[in-house]
Amino acid sequence: MTSRVALVTGGTGGIGTAICQRLADQGHRVATNYRDQAKALAWREMMLARGCDVAIFPGDVADPDTAETMVHAVEAALGPIEILVNNAGITRDTTFHRMRADQWHDVINTNLNSVFNVTRPVIEGMRRRGWGRVIQISSINGLKGQYGQANYAAAKAGMHGFTISLARENAGFGITVNTISPGYVATDMVMAVPDEVRAKIIADIPTGRLGKPEEIAYAVAFLVNEEASWITGSNLDINGGHHMGW
Ligand code: NDP
Repeated sequence: MTSRVALVTGGTGGIGTAICQRLADQGHRVATNYRDQAKALAWREMMLARGCDVAIFPGDVADPDTAETMVHAVEAALGPIEILVNNAGITRDTTFHRMRADQWHDVINTNLNSVFNVTRPVIEGMRRRGWGRVIQISSINGLKGQYGQANYAAAKAGMHGFTISLARENAGFGITVNTISPGYVATDMVMAVPDEVRAKIIADIPTGRLGKPEEIAYAVAFLVNEEASWITGSNLDINGGHHMGW
């Protein structure tokens, strides 16, 4: 397998950690961003103890300038980014009739505008070099909607339109662009949901359990493969059967 440079945004989170680990285990040189240096340094130590060397760079992906600076810092240290996983995300759940403007904008900026902020400085280099993998981590709720998540569902649905447009524009340049839509995965994001709500969610999942971060990382590794070069503009649902069909 060719060793590539991979940037995974939000790599210090639950799903991001598993993606970083999986890509590093496959021999790729992996970087992620952070906002809180102390937290990121502790995370890096934890990963090193697991035998996983992930480079960390400061950068809030919701801010266009710091995101671009972060991309340039990654490329200066590791080389051109060949694999980009747009994974950073937040929730600010509340029903829309109670939603404040900051809850809307924070979620759109972090989950969707970040995709512009990070992909824009990366894509031209991928086109010049004639190889690239761009993967968006969207959500089941960007497909089916969710009570209390008009902001999050709008951002995650927006990722699909982005993916299929970018896939068309770059298919002739050796670049694939795909979306993964996880169902409910056992990370801090989902464990922050009240217990009784989480129990109802699990009761609705045909496999009867939450997903594991490693199960999302497995799909990223699949799409990154050299052999996956004809898979572009697709969405991969990984949700234990929670949402099936179109
Ligand atoms: P976590 O909350 O565990 O991790 C989120 C990561 O994103 C953290 O590393 C966080 O860093 C980072 N991040 C958040 N905001 C920013 C920002 N402005 N700039 C840079 N980094 C930022 O979430 P998960 O691992 O559960 O989720 C990862 C992705 O998967 C998200 O996009 C989420 O929407 C999506 N997803 C998750 C599901 C789940 O069930 N868990 C289901 C479907 C989709 P920091 O430590 O600085 O906050």
